[in-house]
Amino acid sequence: MARQGSPDRRVARRANPAFVVAIDGPAASGKGTLARALARRFTLAYLDTGRLYRAAALLVLDAGGDPADPKAAAAAARQVSVRLLEEPRLREERVGAAASVVAAIPEVRRALLAFQRDFARQPPPPFTGAVLDGRDIGTVVCPDASLKLFLTASLEERARRRLLELREKGLPAIYEEVLADLKERDLRDSMRRAAPLAAASDAVILDTTALDAEEVFERASRRVARALSSPR
Ligand code: C5P
Repeated sequence: MARQGSPDRRVARRANPAFVVAIDGPAASGKGTLARALARRFTLAYLDTGRLYRAAALLVLDAGGDPADPKAAAAAARQVSVRLLEEPRLREERVGAAASVVAAIPEVRRALLAFQRDFARQPPPPFTGAVLDGRDIGTVVCPDASLKLFLTASLEERARRRLLELREKGLPAIYEEVLADLKERDLRDSMRRAAPLAAASDAVILDTTALDAEEVFERASRRVARALSSPR
């Protein structure tokens, strides 16, 4: 007699035996802070997938190209190396904005998909599980993740957080400009046809507008602990 559970699910389980936490959400929703803290707490490898798109964007910008040019962007995405992911300039705002432009190009997403899936399937030793954060981790990259979290926060709150972050780094920043930039990025990330920003139907939604990083971490940690102790 056939075993219970849909065949699709069984294939997905075989394809990804590692414990994977997928964290998605808009820019400045606190994904990175949460992902790093969870990785530390539960000894999981961490991949900030935004860095892949930022790296592709930086290669295009450095070559004087146009991030909206599919050929240039796809060629750049194919050149992204692990070493480039450590480049400090990836955090620059102009690179983030260009990243959301290259990220809308399907060939760019295709070129970066295998690296993300491999990382989730076989996290670098000694890790046996991973946390990945981005926009499409729960929907496209790891649809079979052990736990999916979707972080949200109001646009105004995210702009306030991003402003603080920039000022802490000593960078000049104006609230209205940060807000306008986030709004534009939200729109581009959620309206694009290729893997738009969206919560997976089985994701746990965490609205962090009124929560501090510690409270978000506590809530998410409880979910991770539960997922770790439940049989897959
Ligand atoms: O998260 P971060 O701001 O570093 O991401 C930069 C841009 O990369 C995002 O605005 C988004 O357009 C794109 N991105 C994506 N899919 C991911 C991660 C990032 O489209 N999984």
